[in-house]
Order: sequence, then structure tokens, then C-alpha cells
Amino acid sequence: MKSVRTRLVLFYVIMVILVMIVSGTLIITLIRNSAYKTLDNQLKQAIEVIQRGLESDTSDGDLRQELINTISGRASLASDYEVLLYDYEGYEIFPMEGKTKNLRHVIVTSISGKKPAEVAKGVMENTDGTITKYRDYAEPVLVEDKVAYVIYSKATTSSVEDNLRQSILIIATSVVVALVLASILGLLLANTLTQPIRELTKNAKKIAGGELNIVMDPMSGDEIGELTLTFNTMAKELNKTLSEVYAEKNKLEAVFGHMTDGILVFDSKGCLVHQNPASGEFFDIGKKSTFKEVFEDWLDLEDIELNETEETKQHVISIKNRYLNICLAPYKFVVEENDIGIIVVIQDITKHKKLEELQKEFVANVSHELRTPITTIKSYAETLLVGEIDDPEISKRFLGVINSESDRMTVLVHDLLELSKLDNRQINFEMEPLNISLLTSDVVEKYKAEAIKKAQTIQYEESKEKLTVQGDANRIIQVVRNIVGNAIKYSQEGANIKVSVTQQDNYAVIKVSDNGFGIPAEDLPRIFERFYRVDKARSRAMGGTGLGLAIAKEIIEHHGGMISVESEIDKGTTFYIKLKLLK
Ligand code: ADP
Repeated sequence: MKSVRTRLVLFYVIMVILVMIVSGTLIITLIRNSAYKTLDNQLKQAIEVIQRGLESDTSDGDLRQELINTISGRASLASDYEVLLYDYEGYEIFPMEGKTKNLRHVIVTSISGKKPAEVAKGVMENTDGTITKYRDYAEPVLVEDKVAYVIYSKATTSSVEDNLRQSILIIATSVVVALVLASILGLLLANTLTQPIRELTKNAKKIAGGELNIVMDPMSGDEIGELTLTFNTMAKELNKTLSEVYAEKNKLEAVFGHMTDGILVFDSKGCLVHQNPASGEFFDIGKKSTFKEVFEDWLDLEDIELNETEETKQHVISIKNRYLNICLAPYKFVVEENDIGIIVVIQDITKHKKLEELQKEFVANVSHELRTPITTIKSYAETLLVGEIDDPEISKRFLGVINSESDRMTVLVHDLLELSKLDNRQINFEMEPLNISLLTSDVVEKYKAEAIKKAQTIQYEESKEKLTVQGDANRIIQVVRNIVGNAIKYSQEGANIKVSVTQQDNYAVIKVSDNGFGIPAEDLPRIFERFYRVDKARSRAMGGTGLGLAIAKEIIEHHGGMISVESEIDKGTTFYIKLKLLK
């Protein structure tokens, strides 16, 4: 790469050479032309002077002598100069009379009686073999309108050539000196120009390396100074923009890092370029690095070919007992227009799906629970209508069934309304300090008669300390009754039911245990679900709706407490109700 310095020096040198060549050629041409013109004039003048000095009425013999005298008088003036006299045939008369004939063009023209238009150029070979250039001219001398003599002047051009050579030498020397000076000046100029540029380059490299706080001294007020100032502004702006980008990036990373949805970003070639920690919880990404590798087991990849115009695509997949919503959105790499990558957002919609399923199940359950008594009522009523009403015994029995089925429906609707109110937080809890031991023992007392009916024993184990909780008395009583009632319902005759209230850390724990039928282990986690019953027939026979425990759970949770169960089939069940003690 040629540096600016080299280019500047080169430019200067070429410029000097060109200027010198052009001007040198011009000067030399001018000098040469003018020298030759002077020489030509001298040649013509020499003849003209001789012609002017001739007397017009001189006889031929005298004229010849006069010409010789005049020529010899003038000819001695210059050494490279000679004037010769020829007769009308071209034979030399002066300085050497003899039979030497000169038939140069100018002489021939003069013999014909005309003056040559121009001085002629000639070349002669010396005895040593060298060549001498010369210029010559001639004019006729007329006697009675006839050519009698020809005056011929001739001059070698050696002195002119010498002068020209001198001039060329001087110009060449000047070129060399000018070249040296131009190189030095070029170097100096290049240095003053490139020094700040080098400084700029050095700092630009530093900026590229991440040092963005650089401020440069403009040094001069010229264009380079202006460039330096612009550069400073650019570095400052770049610093600001990068800080903003960095902050934005950090913000996004923090958002991606902490969001519960998984994010996977793939470039246009399908390579994984970004993933957030949450994505690892949904997919075992491990060493997988392409869209295909991650999703081939879960998505129909042929369906997925996103392009710029296409909108987000959603797919719901089920993986490891979870429902995931896979949202595929195209995104554009800024650099190349058709570079479309994919952003995959993975949302865990298990809860949502389960809720949806629960809702469906709930509606189905409600319909089913209501249909049974309605069908019974309808069939009994129809039987009565077709005539059985006349039989007082049958009608009494049928009406009794209709009544009890109506009661069942009333209880069911009541429980459903209760649950709905609890869900919508429409029940106002009248919170007050409650003596929980007293409240529980009262419930037990009320159930004693019921237990006796089933030959069961129910006993309340008195606690030493008085435990007080904050709660709605009626609601807590409702819960305890439900649990104690269940213990009686779901235990065989002769079973023992024990109820106690104890303190555990900051909680009062109501424990209701029976040695009844127990609950199978697989049913235990679902026992608090709406309409969930271990033995549907038994529950229905007992007048249960399958909503009691669900309501109990809601009420206790509204109080900030917990309800749990332990059970073993055929051994018995224990319910724990934990309520926070009042300090
Ligand atoms: P139900 O109205 O059927 O009693 P619950 O919600 O009160 O509804 O109880 C749900 C189911 O839990 C009951 O159907 C029963 O199968 C089971 N269950 C509740 N308590 C006991 C218990 N103490 N022993 C055995 N099973 C019980």
C-alpha cells in the first residue's frame, strides 16, 4: 500500500518533472528559434550591406573588384561566418578564384535572377569525419538586368548549438535541484498532513479496541483540525450510544434471565444463538444447537418455514406431564434483508390446561349430580301420575323419595353456591377471637348422638391450655362438623373417633382421627378436589355431595390456615386443621 507521504512526494516529483519538461522545451525552442532567426538575419544583412555599398554605374571589371574588396573587408569580422562571391555560373571568384562550382539551392535560385525566399540549411562533412551544420543565403548582383555575380553568405551553427547545449544543461541542473527541493518540500508537507492523520488512526484503533473516552487535541484549525473535532464528537456519541445499547442489552438479559417463559433464539440457518435459563427447564437442550435438534421430536418441522411476512405461530405440545405453548415468531437480522431467524417463546400452560380440564370436569360433575335426583323425582312423579297416587301407601313412599331427592338437590345447590361465593370472595368472614378448643369440643358434643347411632365412640381429648385463633366461628364450626361428620360417615359400626386440639409452634392444630375405612393412597392427593369421592355409591348413600372437603379447604385457606390428611386403607384416617394462633 502506498502511503499518503509516498504519494505526495511522488506527485510533487512528477509535477516538477512535467513542469520542467514543458517549460524547458518551451524555453529551449524559444532560444533556438531566436538564435537561428538572428543568424539568418545576419546572413541576409551581410549580403544586403554589400549590395547597398555598390556604385550603380561601375563597369563590370570594377564591380568585380569592388565586390571582392567589400567582401574581404566585412568577411574578416566573424570567424564562423563567411561571405563568398560566385560568377553567374556558380564558379567561385572570392576568396578562392578557381574552378570550384557551388550549386547550392540558394545559389541556383540567385543565378536564375531571383532572391531565395529563405535561408537554407546544410550539412558538411569535415576532414576528421565529423559533421558541421550550417546555414547559407545568396543574392544575385545584376549588371544591365542580367545576373553577373552571386553573393553568398554562410555561417556554421556550432555557436548556436553550443549555446543551446548550455541552456539545456542549465535547465537539467535546475530540474535536478528542483526535484530534490520538491522531494524535501513534499516530505515536509506530507509529514504535516499525515502526522495528525496518523494520530487519528492510532486513536481510532484505540476506540475500536474499546477505549471510548479518548479526546484528541485538534492542533490546528484546518480541515484536519475539524476532522479531529468531528472525530471527538463521534467518539463521544459512540460512547453514549454504546452505553445505551449496553444498558438496553443488560436490561433485556435481566428480563430474559428472570422470566419464567423459556426463550430460544435461532438464526437464519437454524443455529441456536441465545437461550435463557428457563428454556432449559422445558427442553433438555444439552449439546443440541439447531432448531431441528431441539424440536424434531415435538413439532412437525415441515410445517414450519417462517418468512418475513408470516405472523407468529403457536403450537401446544405435551411433554413430561406438562403442557407447553410454543410460540414461534420470525425476526429479522438487520444486516441482510432476507435473513430471517426464529424466536421461540415457551410458556408453561399446564395450570391453565388443568384448570380448563377441571372446569369441564366440574360442569360434567354438576350435570351428573343434578341429573340423578331429577331423573328419580321425574320417574316417581310420573308413576304417581299414571295412577299410583290412589294408593296412599305407595304415594306416601314415593313422595318421601321425591322429598329426600329434592333435599339432596337443595344441599347440592347450596354447596355449589357456597363454593361459588368462596371462589368469588363474596362471603364476608366475620373474624373474631375464637376459643378453638371450646368450639371443637362443642361440635364433638353435638355429634355424640350420631355416633351412638352407629355404635361408635367419639371423644374429645381435653387440652390443658386455652388456644385462641382469629376466625369466623360459623365457618370454622362448618369445617369441623364436616370433618367429624365424615369420620362418622366413613367408619364402620363400633369405630373410635378421637378429636383433639393442640399447639404446634404458632398454630392450633385440630386433629380428627378415626379407625374407619381409610382412603387409598392414590386417592389421597385428590381428596380435596370438587366432587371427588373415593366410593361414590357410599358417599351418595350417606347424602354426601363430594363438595364438603373442597369447601372446608377453601374456608381454612381463607383463614390463612392449612388442612391436610393422612390415611391408610382399612386402618383409619386423620385430618389436621392448622389455624394460626392469636398472639
Ligand atoms: P362427601 O360429601 O362425599 O362426604 P367430602 O368432600 O366431604 O364429600 O369427602 C370426599 C370424599 O372423601 C368422601 O366421599 C370419602 O370418600 C372420602 N372421605 C372423607 N373423609 C373420610 C374419612 N374420614 N375416612 C374415609 N374416607 C373419607
